[in-house]
Amino acid sequence: LKDGPQIDVALAIDKVDQVSAWKVRESAVGDSRAPGYMDAEGNWEDAAVHPDKLGAYLRDFQQILDDHGYRCVYYGHFGQGCVHTRMDFDLKSAAGVKTFRSFMEKCADLVVSYGGSLAGEYGEGHGRAELLPKMFGPELMQAFNDFKRIWDPDWKMNPNRLIGDVKLDEGLRLGPDYRPPQLETHFAYPDDGGSFATAIERCFGMAKCRNLGSLTMCPSFHATREERHSTRGRSRLLFEMLKGDPITEGWRDDAVKESLDLCLACKGCPGDCPVQVDIPTYKAEFLAHYYGKRRRPLNHYALGLLPWWGPIAARTPRLANMLSHAPGIAPAGKRMLGIAEERDAPRFARQTFRDWFAARASTATSPPATTASGPGQRVVLWPDTFTDLFEPDAGKAAVGVLEAAGFAVEVPHKRVCCGRPLYDFGMLTLAKRTLKSTLEALSEPIESGVPVLVLEPSCASVFRDELRKLLPHDEHARRLVAQTVVLEELLDRYAPDWDPPGVAGKALVHGHCHQKAVIRGSQGRDLLTRAGVDAEMTQAGCCGLAGSFDYHAGEQYEVSMRIGEQFLLPQVRSAAADTFLVADGFSCRTQIAAGTGRRAVHTAEVLARGLQAIA
Ligand code: SF4
Ligand code: SF4
Repeated sequence: LKDGPQIDVALAIDKVDQVSAWKVRESAVGDSRAPGYMDAEGNWEDAAVHPDKLGAYLRDFQQILDDHGYRCVYYGHFGQGCVHTRMDFDLKSAAGVKTFRSFMEKCADLVVSYGGSLAGEYGEGHGRAELLPKMFGPELMQAFNDFKRIWDPDWKMNPNRLIGDVKLDEGLRLGPDYRPPQLETHFAYPDDGGSFATAIERCFGMAKCRNLGSLTMCPSFHATREERHSTRGRSRLLFEMLKGDPITEGWRDDAVKESLDLCLACKGCPGDCPVQVDIPTYKAEFLAHYYGKRRRPLNHYALGLLPWWGPIAARTPRLANMLSHAPGIAPAGKRMLGIAEERDAPRFARQTFRDWFAARASTATSPPATTASGPGQRVVLWPDTFTDLFEPDAGKAAVGVLEAAGFAVEVPHKRVCCGRPLYDFGMLTLAKRTLKSTLEALSEPIESGVPVLVLEPSCASVFRDELRKLLPHDEHARRLVAQTVVLEELLDRYAPDWDPPGVAGKALVHGHCHQKAVIRGSQGRDLLTRAGVDAEMTQAGCCGLAGSFDYHAGEQYEVSMRIGEQFLLPQVRSAAADTFLVADGFSCRTQIAAGTGRRAVHTAEVLARGLQAIA
């Protein structure tokens, strides 16, 4: 380094900097692959030479790469002479596989000529076993062979994997014969060239989703410890479904469905997987086809169509609540509908948020204060089904906060819906229709550039994520993706100088998994801190309830509670009684209430306490 080119060096003394630096290192294997741009594969991935020879070796290695037309990502243990490499091999055509073979053979010759090892860290595996004779020679290979024969005389244990007739270009995941069908789909897969098959090729098996130390991905694997209930397992099953080997039933295959059934659609994978494997989207797509010409279970209608039947039930909330909670009637109803008996139905509010807002608007006498970036900056407050029908207090608090910050709040006159519950059941034709009608209802504010504030993170994620995947060419959809904001984004962008009213106290904040994956940000913590709250985040990923997941009777309910008990619920129980429990997601608040008996509130409700103190 002393005599080499100028290189900026930064010392990471601070613990936070050290953790960030290691994160970069740890994510190297995943970040080496950029689907559609650099479809990097391993195979030649951890050759090692003596560190003194590393420079010369790498220059020769680069020459082989150039000769074969490959790009390469280097990372890893340069100091030990063991450098990880991942190349953009073409393993889908006969010519590509031939080039791959030539590359592997030349690399093996090179590393042996430097006295190095074909595999300095991981072991040769099937991909490099054919090359072992180059490194060990015939005598040692015969000794390996003889040794295996002693223990496996009938050649039954993993035959022809390391010893025997091994071929490095056989049994490739893709291979020249890989011709997946290009199926008609509901989602447009804009990040995968419009192809479901290309999307399914994303997973390259590095197993970050099986990391039990990860808080985000994958909760169903954490709860079950079964490969088929991991992101990777689901991805693999879908891949085999497209390949038709060994899964032959296509969209109607039950093994694939069973694996997807326990996916919470928490969006942990598109947020955390290095190549954004997006099982919630693939699950919704699969279910849409699986149930294409089949009768659905009743709970799909009961839970998926909540935004349709809910407003009707909400007209007589007492009756609806009585029926859904009456001993005798409620359990029988749940059994009939296939809903978990342990789970209480949410109670309808006495007055919906929309009704409250309409009544209030008709009696309002004074315009809001003007402390936001523009006088009376317009904002559409999205009346999501959960806030509207069950917890209007969150909406009322948001209106108070927004007006205090100088916004002119509007709520759409027409009943609108983002269709969130539909995705859990793959009701995608209706979901698309619902989005189109929403875009029509919001056309004026969309065209006027008015921000749309969504209090419920799972609904915000529909506008930021599913919308762009279902209607990628719709101009209004494109604008709504950009105009959708959560509370802290709205205040940061449009009222940066507004100081939230002071609220004393501590808060335990649980971020909704969709917010973490799609919207990111501080999940309200920074906003609360600005209001003087001593806010701490929970260590939990998904709360376990995830929309309607835990309302399903049977295994889903059990898995949901197991996930909740892993981190979130014990943390909530150990929080002091006067600590605010803050969760912007209706599901998370429901899970907290069911699991601990404590009430969690939306960020807006905490801020509104400060307003009450001033009033
Ligand atoms: S799904 Fe899991 S195994 Fe596949 S690429 Fe993502 S983290 Fe790796
Ligand atoms: S959405 Fe969540 S539960 Fe489903 S595969 Fe991804 S991380 Fe696992």
